Amino acid sequence: MSTTRTAVVTGAARGIGAEVARRLAADGLAVAVVDLDESACQSTVDDITHAGGTALAVGCDVSDESAVARAVDRIAAELGAPTVLVNNAGIIRDNLLFKMTTEDWDAVMNVHLRGAFLMTKACQAHMVEAKFGRVVNLSSTSALGNRGQANYSAAKAGMQGFTKTLAIELGKYGVTANAIAPGFIETDMTAATAARVGVDFEAFKEHAAKEIPVARVGAPADIAHAASFFCSEGAGFVSGQVLYVAGGPRD
Ligand code: NAP
Repeated sequence: MSTTRTAVVTGAARGIGAEVARRLAADGLAVAVVDLDESACQSTVDDITHAGGTALAVGCDVSDESAVARAVDRIAAELGAPTVLVNNAGIIRDNLLFKMTTEDWDAVMNVHLRGAFLMTKACQAHMVEAKFGRVVNLSSTSALGNRGQANYSAAKAGMQGFTKTLAIELGKYGVTANAIAPGFIETDMTAATAARVGVDFEAFKEHAAKEIPVARVGAPADIAHAASFFCSEGAGFVSGQVLYVAGGPRD
């Protein structure tokens, strides 16, 4: 029996999330493209529908509890029970600790950790009922520590602990939870970092590639490929893992 699964990808208007959404749709899933601004989701939805897939644009701030509840109810009603979830929405508010504001700290914690908590809590009810689920959380190599990212590195390390606990609690319901920890991926986020430190993006990428064993920076498709594996039907015995997708080993 083949079932069309419904996937939710947050922060899917652009960057890694958009590519993950397109890839899961190509894999045969119906995809809810979730981002802050519903109209910004439309280009990802159009890519998917033009390629013959099924997608729905959903505007939602993942850190807003009632907005998340409304979004997940709407997705269940219009696309089907969401049993695959990729918690990808993210922001950076980089600064050295002595200059980092409490607002910078809270904003990052709210989107990454509170957002992943709220979305997962809302979707897990559908996963437990279906006795099937796949949760993929976006961590980062920054979880290992990164200058200027006390807030972001703490949130991304937190995503790993959250993932492992989900795996332990939800495994008996057929739900797996895994984390992907990307290294340098070429998106608006890394372009913004280059702009903040005042370096041309091409030069920034070239410099980064020198430190990466496969001698290039990553692309959103590199992350989408890993997400596709974790979300696949056959990956049901892989849970609680953190996969560094960084062009080389990480501790
Ligand atoms: P991006 O290009 O900045 O895209 C992030 C998306 O998330 C944007 O569309 C953004 O919407 C959305 N978003 C932000 N806050 C949100 C909220 N509260 N609710 C819903 N959506 C929200 O970033 P990316 O590079 O693709 O990164 C995607 C994920 O991978 C993030 O979790 C990031 O931390 C992680 N990551 C990225 C890299 C990298 O090198 N790029 C490396 C490691 C990990 P707006 O445009 O409206 O702000």
